[in-house]
Amino acid sequence: MAYKIIASQCTQCGSCEFACPSDAISFKGEGYVVDSKKCTECKGEFDTQQCASVCPMPKTCVPA
Ligand code: SF4
Ligand code: SF4
Repeated sequence: MAYKIIASQCTQCGSCEFACPSDAISFKGEGYVVDSKKCTECKGEFDTQQCASVCPMPKTCVPA
């Protein structure tokens, strides 16, 4: 499992990129994307998904 970013709601603030412990989020093309191969859902590192925690937009970092 992995998280994804709903591009239409993303303000491209960049907070999630720095919060991700797995280096799974990067800016590609026109927006931020989650590399599903790298996303661990923060398991073993945090109790909550850090991208969703820091994102200022509700329901923008969600389970894929
Ligand atoms: S759930 Fe965690 S590991 Fe996955 S993209 Fe978000 S911050 Fe990174
Ligand atoms: S934290 Fe949310 S609004 Fe900011 S870049 Fe990431 S997904 Fe977009």
